Amino acid sequence: MNEKLAVGISSGGLDSLLAIKVVQRMGFRVIAINFSIGFEQGHLKHWIDHPSSPLSPSKALLETGAEVEIMDIREEYFPLLANPPHGTGAHCNPCIDCHGMMLRIAGRRSDELGSKFVFTGEVLGQRPMSQNRQSLDVVARISGLGNRLVRPLSGALLPPSAPEQEGLISRGDLLDIQGRSRKRQIELAKEFSITDYPAPAGGCLLTDGNYCSRLKDLFLRRPGKILHRDDPLLLFVGRHLLLPGGAKAIIGRDERDNGVIERFAHLGFILEAVDFPGPTVLVEKPVSDADLMVAASVCAGYGKGRGEKRVTVRISDERVHSQKEVTPGIPEGTRLL
Ligand code: SF4
Repeated sequence: MNEKLAVGISSGGLDSLLAIKVVQRMGFRVIAINFSIGFEQGHLKHWIDHPSSPLSPSKALLETGAEVEIMDIREEYFPLLANPPHGTGAHCNPCIDCHGMMLRIAGRRSDELGSKFVFTGEVLGQRPMSQNRQSLDVVARISGLGNRLVRPLSGALLPPSAPEQEGLISRGDLLDIQGRSRKRQIELAKEFSITDYPAPAGGCLLTDGNYCSRLKDLFLRRPGKILHRDDPLLLFVGRHLLLPGGAKAIIGRDERDNGVIERFAHLGFILEAVDFPGPTVLVEKPVSDADLMVAASVCAGYGKGRGEKRVTVRISDERVHSQKEVTPGIPEGTRLL
């Protein structure tokens, strides 16, 4: 067993980078696990541009000197997101259960590697839902790690962890950061020469109100709230419009969106204006003929032919290809999500 090996979970945000540096300063070799739950903005942007290439760690995370392992846990995570036992924060973010799951997996990896403890960059009192004292205790319990979980940034304010009791780490090496101020972290970043780090919150779209509305709508449409691996990507691109009959249209805002939307053609009908540049529109099935015609008008209304009286729109699915002449516009009874 390697006494000087520790496993940390890292989003790549400043707190987790600092936690790595603090644990390294104690003399530990660090394996940093960078999870992907499917809703990280950075990961989604990667999948837009490189659909089949693997994720890679951020430069800032690599620069810590930790060995980084990326774990895609979408399939394990989605059922938890549909029914999180400890509820959500302000939007769709089930932070307590999310941390609990990540740490449970990190604990398994720690056992495989023979590391002595698992750590995070959590800061006491920094986030109202997931980082108050009670939540930190809940996360430690549901992860199965109990007092083998170390929070190096706030550890001096918390009861002694098992590695402390065993003399592996000393209290004096742990920090006493708490609260929402970022001042201490910014000072520490300078001390550790960390200059290039992302904004707080790590870009998790589950904390974004608009994105959460789209996800809630998707859950309503899916029996059993079952998500597929690429659903988060489709929720991320384009404008999402509810049609009067209840179907949903996703309208590309630019070439990049259009390219992504085409990847989801198997979900329904793809609409494009024949004679004018403009958006690619996906209308998910099931859809009524009336909603499909509304979507055709919307498709024309967002394109370069919007000033014309009539525009021809091609409507295709795997079997049917048709063309309809429509009046461009955004008909009443539609609603943007
Ligand atoms: S912000 Fe997102 S990734 Fe972070 S703990 Fe909450 S749900 Fe998980």
